[in-house]
Amino acid sequence: MINIAIDGTVGSGKSTLARGIADRLGFHVLDTGAIYRALACSFRDEKHNKIDEQEVEEFIKDKNIEVFFVGKNQHVSVNAIDYTNMLREEEISNLASQISPYPVLREKVRELQQEFAKKYDCIIEGRDIATDVLPNADFKFFLTAKPEIRAMRRYQQSQEKNISYGEVLKDLKERDYRDEHREVAPLNPAKDSVIVDNSQMTLEQTIEYCLNIINKEYDKYGKNKRIKQ
Ligand code: C5P
Repeated sequence: MINIAIDGTVGSGKSTLARGIADRLGFHVLDTGAIYRALACSFRDEKHNKIDEQEVEEFIKDKNIEVFFVGKNQHVSVNAIDYTNMLREEEISNLASQISPYPVLREKVRELQQEFAKKYDCIIEGRDIATDVLPNADFKFFLTAKPEIRAMRRYQQSQEKNISYGEVLKDLKERDYRDEHREVAPLNPAKDSVIVDNSQMTLEQTIEYCLNIINKEYDKYGKNKRIKQ
């Protein structure tokens, strides 16, 4: 299988890049943030009154996570509840970033991601795909942009009307900090990742830039027969 890992900061355009490459190459996409978000929805439903290692361990042990597709749209269910429509709530963004550092929870999600990569030619996007989940991925991209630019993209996409740009920027910086400083699987480019700062690029230009890299590499090794143009 051909596996492409895309990691990067909040709002750097990972999902758009993954979708753009997938549409051109005919690969599957796995949005791993959606899995952590669905777990956050389930955690919220259970009304835990604190977030610590013991609480998260207790929570995750009886959880059955399923990823399935309706057309091209990824759905995630936890213990048969499909949380797909709730994933983008701001509260869920924050809760996902608070429960995601715990090793037991990451271990369960990692297994699911690795199974997916074994089954499909795919693009997996997240935070630790190149460093931890698929260290042998065929291509690795690390996407980022200045925080102000990422916050503006998020603000413009947000469906929540009563949230200001300033709040989006503050949340984004806090989530960056948590993702980069956690002990387990912190957000870092792998040594062999191509780092793409797209502060000055449109998302369409970012897709073209990465596709060029993929196509060149495959031409070099004559492997491009497997890539649908
Ligand atoms: O990418 P997205 O914003 O949907 O991810 C939600 C949260 O899930 C992130 O802030 C991050 O804390 C966590 N996450 C993670 N590892 C991944 C994907 C997401 O820890 N591979």
